[in-house]
Amino acid sequence: MSADPNQVIANLRELAALTSDDNGAQRIAFTPTWQRARDWFATKLAGLPGGDKIEHHRDAAGNNWVTLPGASPRSLVLGSHLDSVPNGGWLDGALGVVTALEVLTAIARDTNGKPPFTVRLVDWADEEGARFGRSLFGSSAFAGTHSIDADRNRTDRDGVTLEAALAAVGIDIAKIGKADRERANIAAYLELHIEQGPVLERLGLPLAAVLGTKGVERHSIAFHGQEAHSGSTPMADRRDALAAAAKLALEIRTIAGKHTDAVCTMGSVKTFPGIVTAVVGRCECTLDQRDLSPDTLAQMYREAQDASRAFAEQERCTVEWSRIWSIEPIPFHPELIRLCQDSVEEIAGTLVSLPSGPLHDAAEVARLGIPTVMMFVQSLRGISHNKIEDTAEDHLRLAVTAFDRLANKTLRWIESQ
Ligand SMILES: [Zn+2]
Repeated sequence: MSADPNQVIANLRELAALTSDDNGAQRIAFTPTWQRARDWFATKLAGLPGGDKIEHHRDAAGNNWVTLPGASPRSLVLGSHLDSVPNGGWLDGALGVVTALEVLTAIARDTNGKPPFTVRLVDWADEEGARFGRSLFGSSAFAGTHSIDADRNRTDRDGVTLEAALAAVGIDIAKIGKADRERANIAAYLELHIEQGPVLERLGLPLAAVLGTKGVERHSIAFHGQEAHSGSTPMADRRDALAAAAKLALEIRTIAGKHTDAVCTMGSVKTFPGIVTAVVGRCECTLDQRDLSPDTLAQMYREAQDASRAFAEQERCTVEWSRIWSIEPIPFHPELIRLCQDSVEEIAGTLVSLPSGPLHDAAEVARLGIPTVMMFVQSLRGISHNKIEDTAEDHLRLAVTAFDRLANKTLRWIESQ
């Protein structure tokens, strides 16, 4: 018997009722409400088929693992995250974990608690990074890409350090790298997630296979001109740093527009002295560029730099760039993408494949070379990280059924390896 989509929806509603307030979900990592979500999740493990064999533990980075041992230790891992942003939605992350549990349950039922391969579920710790500004905490510790020294002293709004918040829930930041021992024997990783964007709704499609996560180039750009009096400085004599930045803010639309799925965003613009009676002498802005192709990403970065220099010159300013952060595009596994495409097509009757703009825990897993793929389900209005985040129940049902199918296809694929 396959996974029961109605059970998934009932569980999600139960979790939402337990961990939300009038403003939305409040499962912020390492807080009591997040712990309540995990305690609730633990109660759901009781009574699973093969329950006495099911093992449940938390790793050194706080990731939660459930293991249904199979005849072979080679394992299929299904996962996502129970943590949410403050005032978040009911589906982001939770859909993937709750569906993973239902799929694991169905596999246990079908195989009398003894599948041919080990099936594991992971609830990654602090995917969102909402409290300390460091996303993918648990999965990056697992992948060995976490920078403990840089992150130890990050603080939340109340001045609590990440190190102290972790200690309060029994995690020693110096030891989070030991989460790498969970990597042993993983043959494949699958994650179901809401799209969090408007593309599937615009296409009128419920589901998508995800090709990978886009690479990101994130820079801070400072234009320097000359502060001057707004009354006494003729227009022709100005060196207006904001004018140069404003031209770039518009030009990035052209730069991104040459590529199908590329995006460029100027998310922050600060002017100095920032008063109504002065020409802007210095303008600091940020640029976030994303695409799945490394070549496209490199080209967009070059073009934005060239454009910024040209605009600076036009406005008799200078420009300086500094990199805030970058990550390479992370393509998912071609064969698992194909299995995901087949599952989507069989259940939804139509197929589309998309890159993911947001990063996900799956990217950290894929970076290690573990065969990985994600499936997206449509987000209504494309809204996420908000209490109005929603997905039609019909689409949730299709997602659970298609993901269950993908898990079973992947088990057969592991067998064929
Ligand atoms: Zn998420």
